[in-house]
Amino acid sequence: MPIYEYVCSSCQFKFDRLQSIGQDGADCDRCGQPARRAISLFASFSAGDDGSLSPMPGMGGCGCGGGACACAGG
Ligand SMILES: [Zn+2]
Repeated sequence: MPIYEYVCSSCQFKFDRLQSIGQDGADCDRCGQPARRAISLFASFSAGDDGSLSPMPGMGGCGCGGGACACAGG
Protein backbone atom coordinates (compact mmCIF):
# COMPACT_ATOMS: atom_id res chain seq x y z
CA MET A 1 0.00 0.00 0.00
CA PRO A 2 1.46 3.34 -1.00
CA ILE A 3 2.30 6.09 1.42
CA TYR A 4 1.43 9.52 0.14
CA GLU A 5 3.00 12.67 1.39
CA TYR A 6 0.73 15.64 1.59
CA VAL A 7 1.42 19.30 2.05
CA CYS A 8 -1.35 21.48 3.37
CA SER A 9 -2.11 24.31 1.00
CA SER A 10 -3.22 26.44 3.90
CA CYS A 11 -0.58 26.06 6.60
CA GLN A 12 2.14 24.14 4.70
CA PHE A 13 2.02 21.34 7.25
CA LYS A 14 3.49 18.12 5.85
CA PHE A 15 2.20 14.69 6.76
CA ASP A 16 2.15 11.16 5.45
CA ARG A 17 -0.99 9.21 4.76
CA LEU A 18 -1.26 5.52 4.06
CA GLN A 19 -3.85 5.09 1.35
CA SER A 20 -4.97 2.52 -1.13
CA ILE A 21 -4.43 3.15 -4.81
CA GLY A 22 -7.92 4.40 -5.53
CA GLN A 23 -8.02 6.89 -2.70
CA ASP A 24 -7.14 10.48 -3.32
CA GLY A 25 -7.05 13.53 -1.17
CA ALA A 26 -6.50 14.08 2.50
CA ASP A 27 -7.20 16.72 5.05
CA CYS A 28 -4.50 18.49 6.96
CA ASP A 29 -3.78 16.92 10.33
CA ARG A 30 -3.20 20.34 11.82
CA CYS A 31 -5.86 22.65 10.45
CA GLY A 32 -8.24 20.31 8.64
CA GLN A 33 -7.99 22.04 5.29
CA PRO A 34 -7.59 20.01 2.11
CA ALA A 35 -3.99 19.14 1.41
CA ARG A 36 -2.34 18.44 -1.89
CA ARG A 37 -0.20 15.43 -2.59
CA ALA A 38 3.49 16.18 -2.58
CA ILE A 39 5.23 12.95 -3.48
CA SER A 40 4.31 9.32 -3.38
CA LEU A 41 6.37 6.46 -2.07
CA PHE A 42 4.86 3.47 -3.74
CA ALA A 43 4.87 0.02 -2.22
CA SER A 44 6.67 -1.13 -5.33
CA PHE A 45 9.79 0.38 -3.87
CA SER A 46 11.46 -1.10 -0.85
CA ALA A 47 13.92 0.87 1.18
CA GLY A 48 17.24 -0.87 1.73
CA ASP A 49 19.36 -0.65 4.81
CA ASP A 50 21.41 2.05 3.16
CA GLY A 51 18.29 4.04 2.39
CA SER A 52 18.33 3.32 -1.31
CA LEU A 53 15.18 2.47 -3.16
CA SER A 54 15.08 -0.56 -5.38
CA PRO A 55 12.18 -1.57 -7.61
CA MET A 56 10.51 -4.85 -6.86
CA PRO A 57 9.72 -7.41 -9.56
CA GLY A 58 6.44 -7.02 -11.33
CA MET A 59 6.05 -3.31 -10.74
CA GLY A 60 9.22 -2.05 -12.31
CA GLY A 61 7.84 -0.71 -15.54
CA CYS A 62 6.44 -3.73 -17.37
CA GLY A 63 3.08 -1.98 -17.56
CA CYS A 64 1.04 -5.05 -16.71
CA GLY A 65 -0.01 -3.60 -13.39
CA GLY A 66 -0.18 -5.20 -9.98
CA GLY A 67 -0.67 -8.84 -9.19
CA ALA A 68 -1.89 -9.70 -12.67
CA CYS A 69 1.49 -8.91 -14.14
CA ALA A 70 2.36 -11.38 -16.86
CA CYS A 71 6.00 -10.37 -16.93
CA ALA A 72 6.97 -11.34 -13.39
CA GLY A 73 6.27 -15.04 -13.59
CA GLY A 74 8.65 -15.88 -16.34
ZN1 LIG B 1 -3.06 22.80 7.42
